[in-house]
Amino acid sequence: MVKADRVCKNFGALQVLKGVSLEIDRGQVLCLVGPSGSGKSTFLRCINHLEQVNAGRLYVDGDLVGYSEKNGKLYELHPRAAAKQRQDIGMVFQHFNLFPHRTALENIIEAPTQVKRVSKKKAIERAKDLLDQVGLSAKANAYPAQLSGGQQQRVAIARALAMDPKLMLFDEPTSALDPELVGEVLTVMKQLAKDGMTMVVVTHEMGFAREVADQLVFMDGGVVVESGEPRQLLANPQQDRTKAFLSNLL
Ligand code: ATP
Ligand code: MG
Repeated sequence: MVKADRVCKNFGALQVLKGVSLEIDRGQVLCLVGPSGSGKSTFLRCINHLEQVNAGRLYVDGDLVGYSEKNGKLYELHPRAAAKQRQDIGMVFQHFNLFPHRTALENIIEAPTQVKRVSKKKAIERAKDLLDQVGLSAKANAYPAQLSGGQQQRVAIARALAMDPKLMLFDEPTSALDPELVGEVLTVMKQLAKDGMTMVVVTHEMGFAREVADQLVFMDGGVVVESGEPRQLLANPQQDRTKAFLSNLL
């Protein structure tokens, strides 16, 4: 579902991604960990085409992200085609970024009605199902300020799901939450994984990684230092940088 082949990204002289390669199969969950500044968010943003890669290839569901390829040459996609690609990818951020002046339900129907031109009636039906799925049926008419951080994040997840993405990206979805609210968000994510969603999750929640991820990737300095089956990698890291990072975390 996702294939990164020596992906490089720089901001001016600053090289942030220095050849990231990895693969995620459909229905798999990959957890991405690494120190601050190692390029995790940048990598997610490249998958979502919020950033353009400078070298290497990035594929989502077999399609080159942001480009078309002919006879080995790359051509930038028309912005409309790029937007279409992005529609299939849901993203959830550390800070939930809900529209503050819209209710939970209104937040969820916004993109399907505006971008996909789904009828309001259909969008509302689907939004109600999604609110149910994230355990918030009772909060459809609440405004973000009336919801806890954990509830807001669950609305943000429902909002991303409303576009029927084939891939979900999570960038530290629980880092901004009070500890007692982390569990409810992870529970929703766990269920999503069980239901077969393909997910890339940047997180420091090693319990989640151990339990849910098919693959754990440790990134440092813009490269993949080590990756593997989570339990194995956590119990028996091979690289010194991985060992140092994990011992700081636990
Ligand atoms: P954190 O754990 O703190 O979220 P991260 O691994 O997500 O870190 P990134 O946010 O990907 O790291 O940032 C990697 C490097 O790229 C940092 O040095 C950052 O300052 C730099 N960077 C990110 N975005 C930009 C940008 N738009 N312009 C210039 N530099 C950027
Ligand atoms: Mg980040």
